[in-house]
Amino acid sequence: MKQKILVSISLIVIIYAGWRVWAVATTGGDYIPGMNAMDVETGEHFTFQTGPDFPGWPAPNHKTGKNTVYPVEVCYFNQCGKKPGGTWVILNGSLDKPGPTTCPVCGHTVTLHNPLPEGFTLDEKGKLIAVPNAKVNNSSQEEAGTEPSGGPHRRSVPPGS
Ligand SMILES: [Zn+2]
Repeated sequence: MKQKILVSISLIVIIYAGWRVWAVATTGGDYIPGMNAMDVETGEHFTFQTGPDFPGWPAPNHKTGKNTVYPVEVCYFNQCGKKPGGTWVILNGSLDKPGPTTCPVCGHTVTLHNPLPEGFTLDEKGKLIAVPNAKVNNSSQEEAGTEPSGGPHRRSVPPGS
């Protein structure tokens, strides 16, 4: 009798674990608290709950069956700051690529814990908004995304191949 109970408990645990993996893999673009991640091959967005059952990076994409999901930093500079959620960028370091990471959309350098442009903050929907009464001094204007626009076709090509 006791064994039967044990079996059904472990079955529940297995089903729950499977459901959790399925749930994190299918949350898609919906915003829930967690770690932003992107499939390097398909460009799909994910939000992972990095709890004790998290498999580690690169995380599996259950649609493709490949471990191709990497954590992202978000670029809010230049035109990237105009769209809610900014641009999601996988750092070169995550992909074992050398050199600094540049945003594929605006060309700004993206770093770990990528900062927001100075004088800006995010609202609850992830939209970039100016901090009321923020004083931006001249020396940081370049950082604040005021560099002259190079047009929509400006894009950086990673060195080497
Ligand atoms: Zn950008």
